[in-house]
Amino acid sequence: MSEFLETAIEFVKGVGPQRAKLLRSELGLATFEDLLHHFPFRYIDRRHYHPISEAIHSENLIQLKGKIRNIQEQKMGKTSRLTIQFEDETGIIDLVWFQGYQYLLPKLSDRNQMYQVFGKPKRFGAKITIPHPEITPLNEVDENLGWQAVYSSTEKLTAAGLHSRGIQKIIYSCIDQLKNQAIEENLPTNLIHNYQLLDKKSALVSIHQPNQVELASRARFRFKLEELIVLQLELLLRRAISMNKTAGHLLPEVGQPFLNFYTNYLPFKLTEAQKKVLKEIRKDLGSGGQMNRLLQGDVGSGKTVVALLTLLMGIGSDLQGALMAPTEILARQHYIGLSELLEKTAIRVEILTGSTKTKKRRKIHADLLTGEIHILIGTHALLEDIVQFKNLGTVVIDEQHRFGVAQRSRLWRKNTVPPHILVMTATPIPRTLAMTFYGDLDVSVIDELPPGRKPITTSHFTEKDRLKLFGFLKKEIALGRQVYIVYPLIEESETLDYANLLDGFDAISKSFPLPEYAVSIVNGRMTAEAKEYEMQRFVRNETQIMVATTVIEVGVNIPNASVMVIESSERFGLSQLHQLRGRVGRGAEQSYCILMTGEKLSNDSKKRIATMVRTNDGFEIAEVDLELRGPGDIMGTQQSGNIELKIADLLKDGQLVAMARDIARDLLKEDPRLEKPEHKWFKKTLINRLNDKPNWAEIS
Ligand code: ADP
Ligand code: MG
Repeated sequence: MSEFLETAIEFVKGVGPQRAKLLRSELGLATFEDLLHHFPFRYIDRRHYHPISEAIHSENLIQLKGKIRNIQEQKMGKTSRLTIQFEDETGIIDLVWFQGYQYLLPKLSDRNQMYQVFGKPKRFGAKITIPHPEITPLNEVDENLGWQAVYSSTEKLTAAGLHSRGIQKIIYSCIDQLKNQAIEENLPTNLIHNYQLLDKKSALVSIHQPNQVELASRARFRFKLEELIVLQLELLLRRAISMNKTAGHLLPEVGQPFLNFYTNYLPFKLTEAQKKVLKEIRKDLGSGGQMNRLLQGDVGSGKTVVALLTLLMGIGSDLQGALMAPTEILARQHYIGLSELLEKTAIRVEILTGSTKTKKRRKIHADLLTGEIHILIGTHALLEDIVQFKNLGTVVIDEQHRFGVAQRSRLWRKNTVPPHILVMTATPIPRTLAMTFYGDLDVSVIDELPPGRKPITTSHFTEKDRLKLFGFLKKEIALGRQVYIVYPLIEESETLDYANLLDGFDAISKSFPLPEYAVSIVNGRMTAEAKEYEMQRFVRNETQIMVATTVIEVGVNIPNASVMVIESSERFGLSQLHQLRGRVGRGAEQSYCILMTGEKLSNDSKKRIATMVRTNDGFEIAEVDLELRGPGDIMGTQQSGNIELKIADLLKDGQLVAMARDIARDLLKEDPRLEKPEHKWFKKTLINRLNDKPNWAEIS
C-alpha cells in the first residue's frame, strides 16, 4: 500500500492533533486511508437553483440564488432571532435563525452581493420560511461541485465544527493532497476488468466528489463489492482452517444399521429433497473431516427422518449418536417417534432430560460408557460434563435457534475426536444471509414437502368474530378433528400472560362443555410430568382442545390436529407465527390457522398478519421478516455482532453478496493460500481479521 494512505490523519490540512484525536476516538479514523473510507451515506443535488416562487411549495431541501433585501435582528428577553428577507426575480422568502448566527453577520452586509441559500422550507402557520439555511456569497461557492456528499458525524465532532460539512471539508483537502499521488490498486486486474470497476483512485475521488451521481454509484459498487469479497473470503477461510485443523471420524460406508432400516422399516418413500440432503451428509461423513452442517427445512418438511438416518450412519461405524431438542416435550416426542421406528431393530434409544429420575439417570450414564446405548435423545441435560459416551460420533441439534452458541461448544468436550454436527432449523433464513451468517457452516436445504399435503388456509379474525370462531371450532371437532389454541408468553409480562391464558382456558371450558369437548392446558409453569400427561391425553385424542402457551411452538407432531388458533397474534414475530402454524397441516385433512388480534394494529403487525394470510412459504415469510426487523435482530446480536459492514448492506445488497461469494470461492480455488502478488492486499487484510476474532466454526 502506498505510504500516502498510511499517513496519520493529523497531516490532512485542517485537521491537526486535536481534531485528529477526536476523529480517532469518535469514528476510529486514524490514517488518510481511514478518512477516505469514511464514505458519504447520501448525496444532495446541488447543481440547480430553484426559483423562490417554487420554494414556497416545497418541503424538500432546496437551493436558491438571490440578494438580501432586508436584515432584522429581534431580541426577545433571553432569546433572539435573525430574519432575512431574501429575494430573486420570482419572489421573496424569509430566512430565519434562532441562534448561532453571529458569525454570519459580517458576511451579510453587502446588498449588491449575490448569495447561494440552501435549506428546507417549513410552514409556520400561514407563513413559509427557511429555518437555519446555509448561506454563502456566490463568489465563494465552488461551482464545480454538482452533488454534495452527506457524512455521518457525532455530537462531539459536531461541537468541534466537524458536522457533515466540516467532515466534507477535510475529506476534500485530503483529496486535494491525493490528486498528485500515485495510488496502488489493491484489487486484482482481472476483477477490475470483469466487473468494470473504477480503479481505486478514481473511486475514492468519485465517491466523495461526484460530478455525476452515476459515477458515485459506480464507486459505491466497487467499495461494496470489495467489502463483501473480503467478508466472504474470511468466512471461507475460517471454514477451511477449521476443517483442516479438525479431522473428523471417517465413516467408510453407510453401514448395516442404515441399510437395514432403509430397506425394511422406512415408512414412506423419501422425497427427492431428503435424498439430496442425505447425499450431502454422507459425503461429509466419508470425507475424513468433521461435518458442520446446517439443515434448513420448512416445518413439516421431514427433517427428523434425515436426522435418524444420519445417526444410523454413525452407528454403522460403531459411533454413538445424540439428538438434542430444545424442550422436554420435543425430546420426548422424538424419543417416542424414533423408538417406534426402530422397534424391530437392535438399536437402543434412551432419553435423558432434567426430569429423569436419579436411578434411571445413573443407569443411562453407565450404559453410555459401555456403548450399550446407541442413540441418546435429550435436552440441555446432555451437555452436562457428567454425561460421557464410549464413542460419541454424530450429534443432531434440532431447532437450533433455541440453543446458545456457548452451549453447543460443550459438545466438543465429549470425545477426543469432535463429533459430526448437524444443526437443524425450521426458521428459514434468506439465502444471502445464510451465506453470511452461516458462512462457515455448510448449508443443506429441504425445499420440498412430502406429497399429499394440503396448503393450510389462514384467516385473520378480531374479537368481534369470536362467536363465529367458536362455531367453526365446534364444527371441526364434530368432524373428529383437534384444535390448538395458543396464547403468547412474553417474558416481561409473564404474569399477565399467564392470567390471559387462564382466562382463555376458563372461557373455552365454559363455551365447550363436557362431555363433548375435553380441554387440555399446557404452560410453562407446570411440571414436566404434568405437561407430558396433558400432551399425551391430547395425542390419544382424549382431549379435543389444547390450550397452551408457546411451549408447543416447535416440533410437536399430531396429525389429527387441524386447527391452530393464535390469540393476540399481533404479539408474535413472523417466524414464530409460521412455526406455530406448522403444527397443523400434518395429516390428510384440510387445516386452518386463525390469527386473532385486537381491532387496532400497528403497521408492522398488519404487514405480519397479511403476510401470514397470503403465503405458506417459509422463505417468503423470512424475506418479509428480514425487511421488517433487519438482519441483526433475526440472527441475534451474538452472531450479527461479528459482521460489521461499512458500506454494503446485507439487506439491500443481496445480489452483491451472492456475487461476492462466487468471486471469493473462485479466487480461493485459483490461489488457496493467497500467494499470488495480485492477492497481496487480500492476504494482508485477512490475516488481520482472522487474528482479530475468535474462530466461529469451533463454537458452531
Ligand atoms: P420437520 O421437518 O418439521 O421436523 P417432521 O420430520 O416432523 O418435520 O415430519 C413431518 C411429518 O411428515 C411426519 O409425520 C413425518 O413422518 C412425515 N414425513 C417425513 N418425510 C416424509 C416423506 N418422505 N413422505 C411422507 N411423509 C413424510
Ligand atoms: Mg422437527
